Amino acid sequence: MRILIIDDCQTSVLHLSEVLNQAGYPEVLSAPAFEDGFRILRDMDKAGLPIDLVLMDVDLPGADGIAGTLTIKAQREFEDIPVIMVTGHDDEATFDRAFAAGASDFILKPVGRVELRARIRSALQLRREMLKSKERERELERLARKLERMSNQDGLTGLANRRCFDDTLIKEWVRNGREDRPIGLLMIDIDHFKLYNDALGHVDGDACLCAVAQAILGAVHRPGDLVARYGGEEFVVVLPNTDFKGARAVADNIHASLARTGINHPNSSVSCSVTVSIGVASGMPTCQNAPEHLVQAADRALYLAKQAGRNRTETLALAGPDEIRQ
Ligand code: GH3
Ligand code: MG
Ligand code: MG
Repeated sequence: MRILIIDDCQTSVLHLSEVLNQAGYPEVLSAPAFEDGFRILRDMDKAGLPIDLVLMDVDLPGADGIAGTLTIKAQREFEDIPVIMVTGHDDEATFDRAFAAGASDFILKPVGRVELRARIRSALQLRREMLKSKERERELERLARKLERMSNQDGLTGLANRRCFDDTLIKEWVRNGREDRPIGLLMIDIDHFKLYNDALGHVDGDACLCAVAQAILGAVHRPGDLVARYGGEEFVVVLPNTDFKGARAVADNIHASLARTGINHPNSSVSCSVTVSIGVASGMPTCQNAPEHLVQAADRALYLAKQAGRNRTETLALAGPDEIRQ
């Protein structure tokens, strides 16, 4: 534990240092004025060797001990450092001002050894507890962030998961509705994926899902777009502010990107490499329809793409709860 003494009286500094050393605190620094002390506080903090306790004289040249305490407590990085006032003034008004400034304790000069050790021990104990609880807080925040990330992420592909898709679609529905902009949705399903698994096994099947996920990601460029794994071998893409022409263009990019990836499919009747069928839906979010209608329309378009022979895109525009084939 590192202690900083700010006192312009050299004799007082020597006495305090000696008592502290004897009490088992070898790391004692000192400054004759608050400004010097504050510089030490900063430098030590920057060097990763923070001060744990300040013993502050009240009467100092320049800023006095009470103004100094106020300055320390106003800094976020120093606000938890206990400040003990060391004073020759035995008057209540000084104590009141010191506590109001944020001092945690005071000791009257001349300082008795036993009293100093006891006060310092309890101040440092408090400091340790504070650091521990801050560390626990940080750990909890880190875990909460990790949990949040995990709860929105698909474990296999690293894409957003179904839950994240559901949340995003509602948010985008509301936002695009407010801004009077269309929203596009792609529902993507791997063609004959069961046959792929049957031929090569589930491990290769999983690797194929990851490669398809990357190919889709590589074809979707706007920062607001969301690619998610909808479930099994189905993916979805949310395209804010995108009409069906734009959404269809993204679907074309996905077919091309997947063709470039060229994952060999030993058993597909469609192609010798892995292909997808894509259902595209787009529409204006209005009070007459809901995000589910957009999903249903994309799903229906996907079904049409499968029926029409796979490895293709079909598009449906959303017009109220009903949909019109393009
Ligand atoms: P279609 O062209 O009509 O879509 O045919 P398909 O075989 O892709 O469709 P079907 O729905 O009959 O089969 C989907 C298969 O996807 C079933 C299962 O073997 C596979 N599958 C689903 N989820 C996973 C997964 O997480 N890992 C692996 N390896 N396979 C999966
Ligand atoms: Mg499927
Ligand atoms: Mg499939």
